[in-house]
Amino acid sequence: MLKKIIIAIDGPAGSGKSTAAKNIAQKLGFTYLDTGAMYRAITFIALRNGIAENIPAVIDMARRINLKLRFENGVTRVFVDDEEVTEQIRTAEVNGKVSDISRIPEVRAELVKIQKRLGDEGNIVAEGRDVTTVVFPNADLKIFLTASIDIRTKRRLKEFQDKNIAITFEEVKANLEKRDRIDSGREISPLKKADDAIELDNSAL
Ligand code: C5P
Repeated sequence: MLKKIIIAIDGPAGSGKSTAAKNIAQKLGFTYLDTGAMYRAITFIALRNGIAENIPAVIDMARRINLKLRFENGVTRVFVDDEEVTEQIRTAEVNGKVSDISRIPEVRAELVKIQKRLGDEGNIVAEGRDVTTVVFPNADLKIFLTASIDIRTKRRLKEFQDKNIAITFEEVKANLEKRDRIDSGREISPLKKADDAIELDNSAL
């Protein structure tokens, strides 16, 4: 039997993880796993249900939710209980709350369980904040992708502009900096370079 390969990419928002992971997955015919989309889906539902400040209710929802990701034509389509939420999980409102929701240990435990199960099916390219350290510590290849804050801001701003969403450079930058701070500073599964990850600064790539 051929060995199943796991490629894991971590890094801050806007560092190019999704673009890199999608391209690699498409070239190799691997599954692409966008773990951020899962945290975003939980956050979107919490906001919509008005429970985002109620941690026990968020945990309860995370345990019951039926989350499905489908990677099609370069896009990760996200479904919650068969309702498509692909667009709704990428709003500024979700950006503003997702790091608070993803620091809840019980929410992480639920999502990591699902992610590991997908990894068991093999030949996967996963990206996120803890896929090289916690979800797939034995990945065959680990990359820690970085880029300067201004380059990352420009990339995210362009994504919003392409969708005709009005937002300023400063607003996007402030959100990225806030998320970096919370994601890197949290006690459980912080964003950090794994000892055996290859660090790649793609600011100029
Ligand atoms: O990758 P993306 O920017 O879509 O991730 C959204 C948020 O989800 C991150 O800012 C982080 O708070 C959270 N996240 C996480 N662990 C992961 C992936 C994402 O905590 N593995």
